[in-house]
Amino acid sequence: MNNVNEQRATIETPIFGSEKMRNSAPTETIPMHPTSPEIAYQMVKDETFPQTQPRLNLATFVTTYMDDYATKLMNEAIDINYIDETEYPRVAVMAARCINIMANLWHSPEQAKWKAGALAIGSSEACMLGGVAAWLRWRAKRKAQGKPYDKPNFVISTGFQVVWEKFAQLWQIEMRTVPLTLEKTTLDPQLALSMCDENTICVVPIEGVTWTGLNDDVEALDRALEDYNARTGYDIPIHVDAASGGYILPFLDPDKKWDFRLKWVLSISTSGHKFGLVYPGLGWVVWKDKKYLPDEMSFSVNYLGANITQVGLNFSRPAAQILGQYYQFIRLGFEGYKEIQSNSMDIARYAHEQIGKMAPFENYSDDVVNPLFIWYMKPEYDRTAKWTLYDLQAALQQNGWMVPAYTLPNNLQNYVVMRIVFRQGMSRDMTDMLLTDMQNAITEFEKLEYPTQTRVAQNKQQRVVGKVFTHTHVKAGR
Ligand SMILES: *Cc1c(COP(=O)(O)O)cnc(C)c1O
Repeated sequence: MNNVNEQRATIETPIFGSEKMRNSAPTETIPMHPTSPEIAYQMVKDETFPQTQPRLNLATFVTTYMDDYATKLMNEAIDINYIDETEYPRVAVMAARCINIMANLWHSPEQAKWKAGALAIGSSEACMLGGVAAWLRWRAKRKAQGKPYDKPNFVISTGFQVVWEKFAQLWQIEMRTVPLTLEKTTLDPQLALSMCDENTICVVPIEGVTWTGLNDDVEALDRALEDYNARTGYDIPIHVDAASGGYILPFLDPDKKWDFRLKWVLSISTSGHKFGLVYPGLGWVVWKDKKYLPDEMSFSVNYLGANITQVGLNFSRPAAQILGQYYQFIRLGFEGYKEIQSNSMDIARYAHEQIGKMAPFENYSDDVVNPLFIWYMKPEYDRTAKWTLYDLQAALQQNGWMVPAYTLPNNLQNYVVMRIVFRQGMSRDMTDMLLTDMQNAITEFEKLEYPTQTRVAQNKQQRVVGKVFTHTHVKAGR
């Protein structure tokens, strides 16, 4: 009898009757022979099969739902490399239109037909570009004044997203961090200014702090800077990291001034793939005017058959996200974005209220200003609890939910919190299911006779640091 299992699969070989399914998948060397597409597909698909369903991943800020037409458009553009602008000039124009739309949502004063901005793979690249532009402007000015330009720094709160640490490391620009405390849960403008000097390239407030969901007060910072710059003769600008807020504030809080309406805000970055409602990866950075985008950052490339001006770290990049973004602008319009963001916010506020009522929990802040919030265990409950939020995270994961537990940044590092990001695709009904799963998990935890391992570890940790949960309730935005 011939052993089919030793042969290469034929068109008739059942997928799960094939040799490949019986053997381990390649981990070190490329397989010697080809595999039929059905079997290769199944193998790769199944590698990700046990993972969290993206829409149940409440840890991520990134889009996990787009409608069928958006998905079709993006799939149909999967073979387009954005950088080939000569071949696909309409895509470049579409990106420029998206930049215009973002710039105008943020009240750009620029008169030019095409606003100064750049496409990025996410906020990380967009933040880098904003930061580099601020650094080059500062350096040019220092050179012109005949002053040293070897010790640049920037100022941000300890609630910074990791990209700012990368920015500091990669460009060797000192990062000065303003501590967040329970009394001051967002960037303190006066403290920020006390860290500034002639070498400060910019201050970076965050709209939608990743750790807490709160917004830094850019207007207060701008006012304080106006005074500070007048007094010192510096002209320290603001780059707003609006990864989340860039697509929330224009729709839900249009009167709040955080953008180009403020004098010292010269650049803003955002993630098109977060509340911009496009699948990853897409980001945007916009400058208040072309004069704030240093010439050194625009590269001319002409070997593709035309003279192309590029701003960005990447060369090749997928174009599909641009089509997805432009589709969303047309499909949803201002009102559509507003309806989606305001549903996310309503559902977030509902969950905030329900979680705040659960016996073990306390919300970190009273306000929900972006569709996400964090909470922790009440100190009095925490003292005798036999479980931790890490156990709750694991329990919810058994129902498919990903709700992350983590410790806050420096200064608040003893506080274990839990966070939910409410995005398009998380309905009230799903939220009720999640809340029920939370209640059920808590009921089980309360029957525990002995502390869980994470509780033992957490108690030890708290003893070592000599701090127990003794914080008082905080108000948002203080
Ligand atoms: C998510 C986030 C980033 C990084 O954005 P990506 O789009 O994931 O690269 C930067 N800053 C803040 C405040 C964020 O929330």
